[in-house]
Amino acid sequence: MLKTVCQRKTANNIAKVRARIQQAARENARDVKDIQLLAVSKTRSVEDIKEAFAAGISDLGENYAQEAETKIKALGDLPLTWHFIGPVQSNKTEIIARHFTWLHSLDRLKIAERLSRQRQPSQAPLNVCIQINIDDEAAKSGIQPAELPAFAAELVTLPHLSLRGLMAIPAPVSQDQLKCAFSRMRTLFQALQQQFPKQQYPQLNIDTLSMGMSADLELAIAEGSTLVRIGTDIFGPRHEHSQD
Ligand SMILES: *Cc1c(COP(=O)(O)O)cnc(C)c1O
Repeated sequence: MLKTVCQRKTANNIAKVRARIQQAARENARDVKDIQLLAVSKTRSVEDIKEAFAAGISDLGENYAQEAETKIKALGDLPLTWHFIGPVQSNKTEIIARHFTWLHSLDRLKIAERLSRQRQPSQAPLNVCIQINIDDEAAKSGIQPAELPAFAAELVTLPHLSLRGLMAIPAPVSQDQLKCAFSRMRTLFQALQQQFPKQQYPQLNIDTLSMGMSADLELAIAEGSTLVRIGTDIFGPRHEHSQD
């Protein structure tokens, strides 16, 4: 009985988030098909994820490698696509290379090289987004915008990674400042696409601007986000993470 109620709640939440995405797409004259929904399942249980899957979710975002590995193994029967979105420690790259399809939070060349080395040639290349420290925060992950062209040029030489775009987590500030941060990301994304023209780089597909979370998905979509990462508004308030 309780379970049914919970299931309905997750499904309801997902329907509400999809409606918000649809509305934001409409208001900005964008095709809703160009905006992907990533359900952020860090700290959530295998049961929570099964409920989200039953409600149509196919893509999951995780922040902690060890926690993710356990869940990915437990859910091996389901056709899920896993995205790593947290800071990458070098002793966790093996887990990411083995189990994930996407990495959104790449900001160090050393990590990129390890991942490319550890990715099995039998696997498709790991799709990566470069994380940008868009508000120049001291303690924040991500490269500086000015570093992007050189960093990207190095990345595309790695055989088992596929550069797909950019990701950011703006500082929690006013709506106006958030809008500016997302707008700067859009500009950087366009510059990245221009750095690698299709004719010269036919193998590249730079199509992903990963930005927008529960509180600000509308602003992100207005500024061109192609993937929103939603945790709280799908699964409810988070419990504290204990260890990794
Ligand atoms: C936790 C997390 C999210 C989800 O945030 P909510 O506010 O719960 O939607 C998105 N992106 C990253 C990188 C996260 O760590």
